[in-house]
Amino acid sequence: MYRCAACPLPLFESSAKYRSGTGWPSFWNHIIKENIAKESDSTFTMVRTEVLCTRRGGHLGHVFPDSPRLTGLQYCINSVFGLY
Ligand SMILES: [Zn+2]
Repeated sequence: MYRCAACPLPLFESSAKYRSGTGWPSFWNHIIKENIAKESDSTFTMVRTEVLCTRRGGHLGHVFPDSPRLTGLQYCINSVFGLY
């Protein structure tokens, strides 16, 4: 189980974790849709989709539509910690 680094909201399961080659922990699915907010992020001259925790609005990472997995989504997350 992976939770938000700033609050205990559960976000991802380790079963949905995979190696994407980006260097960040990557997940192809989330646990509860309501725990994750998405916002357009156009910093660094490219448009990406930022992923935020819905509880405190904390930055979690980005989601990209280029996963080879079931959902087609790649959540690159750099603000979570694992907790089982
Ligand atoms: Zn949070």
